[in-house]
Amino acid sequence: MYINSYIDTRGADVCEPLSFTQVIVKGIALGGGLFVPKVLPRLSLEEILGLARLPYHERAALLYRHFGVDMPFEQIRSLMHQAYADNFDTPDITPVRTVGDDIHVLELWHGPTLAFKDMALQCMPLFFSAALSALHEGGTSAAPYPPEVSGSSVDTPGKTPEGPTCISKEALENTASRRGETPRSADAREYLILVATSGDTGTAALAGFSHSNYTNIIVFYPQGGVSELQLRQMLSYSGSNVGVFGLRGNFDSCQHAVKGAFADVDFNHQLIQDYGIALSSANSINWGRLLPQIVYYVSAYAQMVANGQLKAGVELDVCVPTGNFGNILAAYYAAQIGTPIGRLLCASNTNRVLSDFINTGTYDITDRAFVLTPSPSMDILVSSNLERQLFELNGRDPVRIRKWMTDLATTKRFSVDRDTFAAMRRTFVADWASADESLATIKAVYESYGYLLDPHTAVGWQVAERLRGSNPVLLAATAHWSKFGADVYRGLAGLKAASPLPDELACLTGVELDTYIAKNYASAAAVPPSITALAEVDIQSAKVIGSGSGDVERCILDWLAQRRP
Ligand SMILES: *Cc1c(COP(=O)(O)O)cnc(C)c1O
Repeated sequence: MYINSYIDTRGADVCEPLSFTQVIVKGIALGGGLFVPKVLPRLSLEEILGLARLPYHERAALLYRHFGVDMPFEQIRSLMHQAYADNFDTPDITPVRTVGDDIHVLELWHGPTLAFKDMALQCMPLFFSAALSALHEGGTSAAPYPPEVSGSSVDTPGKTPEGPTCISKEALENTASRRGETPRSADAREYLILVATSGDTGTAALAGFSHSNYTNIIVFYPQGGVSELQLRQMLSYSGSNVGVFGLRGNFDSCQHAVKGAFADVDFNHQLIQDYGIALSSANSINWGRLLPQIVYYVSAYAQMVANGQLKAGVELDVCVPTGNFGNILAAYYAAQIGTPIGRLLCASNTNRVLSDFINTGTYDITDRAFVLTPSPSMDILVSSNLERQLFELNGRDPVRIRKWMTDLATTKRFSVDRDTFAAMRRTFVADWASADESLATIKAVYESYGYLLDPHTAVGWQVAERLRGSNPVLLAATAHWSKFGADVYRGLAGLKAASPLPDELACLTGVELDTYIAKNYASAAAVPPSITALAEVDIQSAKVIGSGSGDVERCILDWLAQRRP
């Protein structure tokens, strides 16, 4: 079994190489860095095209083996078989539909919660549970790291004139040990997955984790920042290991508060001591969520060639409606490992900090208001996964990453150096679409092709039309239209964003509105059964808390106390 090890973007965990199962349980590195594989595999075009002969779950298993996942191949195959089965509404799992003139739509929304987050979150919790089971049963997969692969040196820049980048675990946990016992996640009997969501992650994480062994999950969403149907989806999960709470704030305050809970040593200590619980993350900073996303880009390329939608070896540009930068980063890695991908088209909505960054080299949120748009899952100002992308673009130099992230935390802006900017411009182009433009795109694409886009994918379509060059374009379709019925209706009816719906529609629930759209726009797909079922969910009982880390911590402690009488 080939086992790859992981390093982190801030160079703190490099002293002690970790395996795949270890990094998915850990989530984030000591010191706040994000994990990336020490070595990226390289596949030949033949190997990639050969994937088309296999069902989706076998493609995923093979790619995991290439990435050196530390589990027996038979176990990987069986987990993948579970992850990508009839929980998706098509055996293709991620079909590619040619819609426009050389615009090919990669439909990533065929999973149980109808958004692309399912691609990772139907898969990652199975690997997470398997890693924990192995720990509990003293099995092999998360056992101490095999010494022969632990590697004596790290082949990324480890030392610099400023001093060693290798911060010892002891140094980082010093604060904790001064207070006595170090809170060690190894002592945990159970895990608590904390999720900050702008809508889709929460639902998909609940779908993935609510039945897992040894795990609890609490989801925090910005009150008023998610669609009615997303809220119904989240509140439809119940059970003693599940909590769902609204926060008075926007997605960034949600993410900030949850990060605060992760970083609070005393709080983590208390959870271990009183409840035997360690925190973990299902947000897209977890490598376990990124790897399944790399799979669908490689798979899509093979599938398109097999379908005759693309000639073998021809470069494909990929356009991704972007928020936390996870999905587009996965396309970047797919290209790095050998998929013939040309440019990456980064599409933003009005919260266009990312597209401005790609165009200027300066990430600046000093004077940027957070705007609610029809594409809420892209309403983000601090994109966590950008850190991984910059690490790859700057030659894997943790020293500059630490500087940029410190600049961002203290001055709310940072600028990358000239070489990193040049590297970024070689791969990425970026633009944004306003709320009204994205709604108009829904109408235009529907009228030209009879195909219904959700508002996130519509942002991507608009930007793809503007930035496309001579290569064919693969557009990542990130959600099914029925999750965002009100804005889809506004688009189809030619209404402006945020304008009131006509009286006879304003009184409908989300499910009823979707049914109306499906009936009146005859060639649009029917409302999926999982949406119809949400009519029963009570959303009046949603619990709402303040948006500070203290509020989040108190909420968690209350929830734990109530959970155990
Ligand atoms: C999460 C999400 C996005 C943004 O994806 P990132 O990986 O965070 O860039 C876009 N569209 C939809 C529908 C989503 O749920």
